Amino acid sequence: MTADQTSFVSRNPAAPSDVLAEFAAPGPTAVAGAVGRARAAQPGWLDQGAAARSSALSAIAGAIEAAADELAALAVREVGKPASEARAEVARTVAIWRYYAQAPYEPTGAVHETAAGPGLLLTRRRPHGVAGLITPWNFPFAIPSWKAAPALAAGNTVVLKPAPEATACAVRLAELVRQAVPDGVFALVPGGATEGGALVSAADVVSFTGSTAVGDAVARAATARGIPVQAETGGLNAAIVLPDADMERAAAHIAAAVAGYAGQKCTATSRVIAVGAAHEPLREALAEALRALPVGNPADPATVCGPLISGPARDRAAEALDGACVLAAGTAADGPGWYAAPTIVEKLPAGHRLLTEEVFAPVAALLHADDLPHAVRISNAVPYGLVTSVHTAGLEAALHGLDRLDTGMIRINAPSTGVDFHLPFGGTKASGHGPREQGRAALDFYTSSRTYTLAP
Ligand code: NAP
Repeated sequence: MTADQTSFVSRNPAAPSDVLAEFAAPGPTAVAGAVGRARAAQPGWLDQGAAARSSALSAIAGAIEAAADELAALAVREVGKPASEARAEVARTVAIWRYYAQAPYEPTGAVHETAAGPGLLLTRRRPHGVAGLITPWNFPFAIPSWKAAPALAAGNTVVLKPAPEATACAVRLAELVRQAVPDGVFALVPGGATEGGALVSAADVVSFTGSTAVGDAVARAATARGIPVQAETGGLNAAIVLPDADMERAAAHIAAAVAGYAGQKCTATSRVIAVGAAHEPLREALAEALRALPVGNPADPATVCGPLISGPARDRAAEALDGACVLAAGTAADGPGWYAAPTIVEKLPAGHRLLTEEVFAPVAALLHADDLPHAVRISNAVPYGLVTSVHTAGLEAALHGLDRLDTGMIRINAPSTGVDFHLPFGGTKASGHGPREQGRAALDFYTSSRTYTLAP
C-alpha cells in the first residue's frame, strides 16, 4: 500500500472480487499510542509471575485450537493458502504457543564464582519492554505467533503490524490472544510501511519477517536507535541432487518445494542443481512430478499450488520467465484468481533474473554441476543463504554438503520447505540480520543479560 493511504481492502486471491473487509491504516500517531499503552502494561505483565504468563499462553493455544477450522478457512480465503497447508499452519501455531507456554518456568540466569576472592556473580535475563513485530502475509498465523509467543513468555508486551494482505487473519488472531492477556499486553496496528516505520521508531525490540529490501531498511533504522533487531528475509534456495539419489522421491520433494503454495515461501526451491549423471533422470522425473502436481482453487483439499497473492505478483512471475527455455509447465488453474502455472526452466543465460532474484512464484531453474564441490559453489553463488536441500543416498556427500554450504539450514532428502518450530530458523547473507528465530534462541533475543556482583 502507498504511504498516503488511510484505508485498504483485503481480497481473496482465488476470486479477487471477493473483498474480505476494508481496514483503516491508523497512521504514526496511533502506532505511538499503541506502543505507549503496551509500555505502560509491561511491568504488570512481567510482575504477574511465571504461572500467569504460562497459563495465558496455554489459553491462547487452546483458543486457537478450538477455532482451527475457522482460522484455516480464513487463511484459504485471504492469502490463497491451500486448505491442507492452512490446516497444518494452524496446527503448528497451536504447537508454538504450547511450546512457549513452558518457557516462563525456565531458568533466566546462572550463578557464577568470582574470578578472584569470595563473593558471588549472578546473570539474569530481563525483557526489553515492548516488542514491535512486523510480519509478511504468507504465514498469517504462524509467523506472528512464533514472534509473539516467546516475546510474551519472556515478559515483554507486543505490538503487531501485519502485512495488509493478511489483515483479517491478524485481526482474528489478535482477538484470540487478547482474550487471554490483560489490557495493553498485545495490540494490533493494521497498515503498511507508514505504520511499520512508526513501530520501528517506537518499540524497544523489533522482529521483522519479509523481503530483503524492507528488512535491510528496518534493520538499519532499528540499529540507528540502538535497539535489538532481527530480520528474516528472502531466499534463492537450491536443491542439489546427486546421481545416487532416489530420483522419483527427489523429484516429488523438489516439485512440492517449487510449487507448494505457488512458491510463496521463503524456503521454496528456485534452483535445482543436478550433479553429473543425475541430470537426465532428474530432468525427466522432475518434469513428470511437476505436471502431476495438483493446481487449482486453494479451497480444494487436493490443491498443492493455488493462486499468487496479487495481480502484480502474477505479472512478476510471468516476466521472470522472459528469455528462459521451458522444460516443463503444469497448467494454470482456470478462473478469475491470480493463478500462474508451475514451471521449470533450463539452459538459462548467466545472470538471468531467476538466478539472482527471489521471484516468489512457482518457478525454478534446472542447472547442471560437474561434481558435488561444483554444485556447492553454484548453491553458494547468490546473495542469499537461507536453506539448501541435498538429495543423496550417501552420508558422505550429505556431510560434505553440511561442511561447505553457506546457508542457515540444510535439509537432507527432504524438501527445502518445512520448519521445526523448536529449533533455530534463519539464514546467512541477504537472508537475514541478527539472531535466529524460534526455539530457545528466540527467548534470548527477547531478553538481555544483566550481570550482578554480590560482594561478600
Ligand atoms: P514485505 O513487502 O517486505 O513486507 C513485510 C512487512 O513489512 C509488511 O507488513 C509491510 O507492509 C512492512 N513494511 C513495508 N515497508 C516497511 C518499512 N519501510 N518499515 C517497516 N515495515 C515495512 O514482504 P511480504 O511481501 O509481506 O512477504 C514476502 C517476503 O517475505 C519474501 O521476500 C519472503 O522470502 C519473505 N519471508 C521470509 C521468511 C523468513 O523467515 N526468512 C518467512 C516468510 C516470508 P506493506 O506490505 O504495506 O509494505
